[in-house]
Order: sequence, then C-alpha cells, then structure tokens
Amino acid sequence: MHELSVTQSVLSIALEHAQKAGAQRITQIVVVIGDFSTFVDDSVQFYFDIISQGTIAEGAELIFDRTPGRLRCGDCGSTFTYDARRVELTCPSCGGSRLEIVGGREFYVESIGVEP
Ligand SMILES: [Zn+2]
Repeated sequence: MHELSVTQSVLSIALEHAQKAGAQRITQIVVVIGDFSTFVDDSVQFYFDIISQGTIAEGAELIFDRTPGRLRCGDCGSTFTYDARRVELTCPSCGGSRLEIVGGREFYVESIGVEP
C-alpha cells in the first residue's frame, strides 16, 4: 500500500505549484511513471480522489506518462528496452542474463494543468 504515500507527495507537489502560480483549481496532473516502478496507476488515482477532497485539486485527472524500462547487460554492456511480452529476460545481443536496471523506475510529477 505504498501508493498512498506517493500519492500524498503527488498531491502536495501539485498544490505547491498551483499556489505559486496563483491557480484556483487544478484540473490535471501529469505523472511520469516508469515501467519498473511498482506503483499501480489505478491505485494512485483511487487514493488521489480520496485525499484531494476539499483541496483545489479535487476532481483533477491524473494522466500517467509511462516511460519504458531500460536494462543493461552485464556481459556485453549493451543497453536495451525492456519488453514485457518477452518470456525470458535475457540480453538480445548476447543472450546474457546478468541484467541491471538502468531506467524505468521514475515516478514524478511532470506538469499540472490549472484554471487561473
Ligand atoms: Zn549482452
């Protein structure tokens, strides 16, 4: 249930930005989420709808911008994009299986949409 705490930080970041911009209402929040981050989109929206009640972000739509996971092979050093449809997770260049995650764990607020 760690979605709740990340959702709280999404909300507070959005509120902070809206306040600085002098906005009356937040209409949407774009959240970048990596394929390897363990957060589930639906849960984040679910928690958001609850905790944003009574704030200017109430009713805002969360838009998830998914970034692909990147892996690096420990044998040949090549990097490639993680493809969830592949059954075996091995290096496409050399077939090695010593893989390291080098991208796709992102989770951050990219932008917010507001009504002035
Ligand atoms: Zn390799």
